[in-house]
Amino acid sequence: MRTLMLSANELNTAKIAADIIKNGGLVAIPTETVYGLGANGLDESAVAKIFEAKGRPQDNPLILHVSRTEDIEKFCHSIPQAAYALAEAFWPGPLTMVLPARDTVPKRTTAGLDTVAVRCPDCAITRDIIALSGVPIAAPSANISGKPSTTTAQHVHHDHDGRIDAIVDGGPCRVGVESTIVDLTDERPRLLRPGGITPQQLKAVLGDLVIDKAVTASIDHDAVVKAPGMKYRHYAPAEPVVIVSGSREKAAQYIRKHFEPGDRVLCFEEELPLYEGCAPLSYGQEADVDTLCAGLFAALRELDDPSIHQVYARCPEGDGVAFAVQNRLKKAAAFHVIDAEVEV
Ligand code: AMP
Ligand code: MG
Repeated sequence: MRTLMLSANELNTAKIAADIIKNGGLVAIPTETVYGLGANGLDESAVAKIFEAKGRPQDNPLILHVSRTEDIEKFCHSIPQAAYALAEAFWPGPLTMVLPARDTVPKRTTAGLDTVAVRCPDCAITRDIIALSGVPIAAPSANISGKPSTTTAQHVHHDHDGRIDAIVDGGPCRVGVESTIVDLTDERPRLLRPGGITPQQLKAVLGDLVIDKAVTASIDHDAVVKAPGMKYRHYAPAEPVVIVSGSREKAAQYIRKHFEPGDRVLCFEEELPLYEGCAPLSYGQEADVDTLCAGLFAALRELDDPSIHQVYARCPEGDGVAFAVQNRLKKAAAFHVIDAEVEV
């Protein structure tokens, strides 16, 4: 199969992409979070192709992308007022809501659950593709399963050239990590995955929010979890990653002492001078956490190289968007954190 490369700036791109979706094909779509691998979310066999192309476990459900809020009523029932309040505040934007699913949504899309995740992305070309195709687009992140997510069209090309019908190039993703997921099917709203919309922003609208334990801790592979994707090893380069926490100086001392040839250091731009000779790679500025968020996956992809022995990573402290960076980096590190204030 030849994979079409389409530019978001070309006038006929939305129509070409929408036609592929209508015909049951696979199109990688840009969004403000990460690139998604999209198909008609109401077509079981089209959705099956997503799982096949990614090598995605069958029990990991997809997100249905809509072009406008009112469309969720076609795919969800018993929608609480809170969902409309969140849509009003954050859509189009990097927020996914889990709601009770209607029978119109195939079980393949929801991985057999009776709930469905829905989102309206903040990316005009992708909303045009959805609207022109006349169906919701089911899309997980476009990376091969288990690998760092795709934040440029080139990342998608690397993983899927010759295996999917088209890639729409909309430039690098603005947010850089997947959407915040909030489950609205329980008595209390529950954060299943942190992202560009922060817990503080959600609480300001909802008044209440439970943070699911899978957000901050490692989950047993056999565990029954609310967001099934959370139990898999995620975002991981080929070699082990360890997070080194603590002050800039203590962390540098620890890493420089343990560093061996073939290791790499993933750090903040401000720290580069501290790691001279230790093959440092910066993923953004500690002083501007949005840049860390936007740069994390591209950096993890660069470090996905079997010749690398071990990666020492620095992780931002604090809440807000830093919470999402911590979550993704800890998953890449399989929750392996060394405190340089304690260990030497
Ligand atoms: P991805 O965008 O590649 O991370 O994949 C979508 C993620 O959305 C999945 O891994 C799940 O964690 C989450 N998700 C999708 N549908 C549901 C659902 N019905 N209930 C809970 N989580 C969901
Ligand atoms: Mg993913």
